[in-house]
Amino acid sequence: MHFDHAGTLDDFPNARVHLQDLEMQFATGRHMLHQGIRFAFNVEDVVAMVRRLYQEKVVFHEGDQQLAPGVSVHHLGGHTMGMQVVRVWTQRGWVVLASDASHFYANMQTGRPFPVLYNVADMFAGWRRCAELADSDEHIIPGHDPLTLQLYPAVSPELEGIAARLDLPPAPMPESVVDAASTGGSMLFKQASE
Ligand SMILES: [Zn+2]
Repeated sequence: MHFDHAGTLDDFPNARVHLQDLEMQFATGRHMLHQGIRFAFNVEDVVAMVRRLYQEKVVFHEGDQQLAPGVSVHHLGGHTMGMQVVRVWTQRGWVVLASDASHFYANMQTGRPFPVLYNVADMFAGWRRCAELADSDEHIIPGHDPLTLQLYPAVSPELEGIAARLDLPPAPMPESVVDAASTGGSMLFKQASE
């Protein structure tokens, strides 16, 4: 429910929002007394989610849940209490939309969390879980890495730089990124997929 993920809720008035119980608890509970945690939320987005709840358009989950054949949500925590990822079946296998479980490829590849987080241990465990859920490390899509738009082909020429085909294999990772990963931290990500 961080502002950069929940901030356009009003653009989808008929949508049902799939939310972990713990995310609503996090955004409306005692941890919001701390500016250092609260700053990534916008109270108007939180209030909008509560209004959506009262319209019966929020679906709560506790842990892992299949939403439809080939689409499931998985609770990880770490970044926020209720951080969840989405796993989708595609023509190249199971793809995990990691969202803020790993902002950039480098976070999970070098074992260095993005420094907005609720629980560092769950963040580390979350990378392992992503590796288990995905068919390979090339099937995990970080939530905020501009590289994704370079590695994957655009949906159409008009959507170049906006929307990419994650169901197709990515281009090879640039050498600079591979170098950073190999000189980085514990390579948890790689171990988990081996
Ligand atoms: Zn976030």
